[in-house]
Amino acid sequence: MRIKNLFIVPILLLALTGVVSCGSTKKSDDTQATEKKVVIKAPAFDADSAYTYVKAQTDFGPRVPNTQAHKDCGEYLAQQLAKFGAKVYNQYADLEAWDGTILKARNIIGAYNPDSKKRVMLCAHWDSRPYADYDADEKNHKKPIDGANDGASGVGVLLEIARQIQKEAPAVGIDIIFFDAEDYGTPAWHRGSYKAHDWCLGSQYWSRAPHVQGYYARYGILLDMVGGKGGTFYYEPYSYRTARK
Ligand SMILES: [Zn+2]
Repeated sequence: MRIKNLFIVPILLLALTGVVSCGSTKKSDDTQATEKKVVIKAPAFDADSAYTYVKAQTDFGPRVPNTQAHKDCGEYLAQQLAKFGAKVYNQYADLEAWDGTILKARNIIGAYNPDSKKRVMLCAHWDSRPYADYDADEKNHKKPIDGANDGASGVGVLLEIARQIQKEAPAVGIDIIFFDAEDYGTPAWHRGSYKAHDWCLGSQYWSRAPHVQGYYARYGILLDMVGGKGGTFYYEPYSYRTARK
């Protein structure tokens, strides 16, 4: 994912590691006396388990739309969500890429507590970029990337969350969405015209045609590139501008 992409929200890491701020601002003595300490129980997050799901994806090879590896990995992801007790929706769509290529895309959605009106959306993209257009070695610029970090890491984290949700379902409804065809944007080496809005094709499609009619979530958190060694996560500017709260 490049900065052009719609939104990357690293805040989730706080939730994943079970760090919950209870907002311990100064209160007057009166309120302190009646205030009860709220303990929020967060499930354990198994990093090794998440890593296993990242490796399972990269073992398929680059997950570039219209390839067998992509197809096989899509099956794997849908099966995993089903195995972890989610109601699975598959959104198949033919989406036009920057160069006119029609991408056989598949958004994969795992819903927990599907009847709840209180919903939270957690998402990542599962396709990987067909061009290593920023690789230090120019020879690689037209080759696909492995996408261990860019793509697989966010999905791996969400699969581990799905496994945890299955063990102890939260009261709210949760939708885990794996968007497809997100990272097929115009390569840096391309000169000339290209189709506009070329990034995030799967999520653009989903926003026009959500998997459930009239779908509404209180908020959404998207993870991408969360697996880098010593990763540092800043406020993501698009989210900061358009969804600050
Ligand atoms: Zn990405």
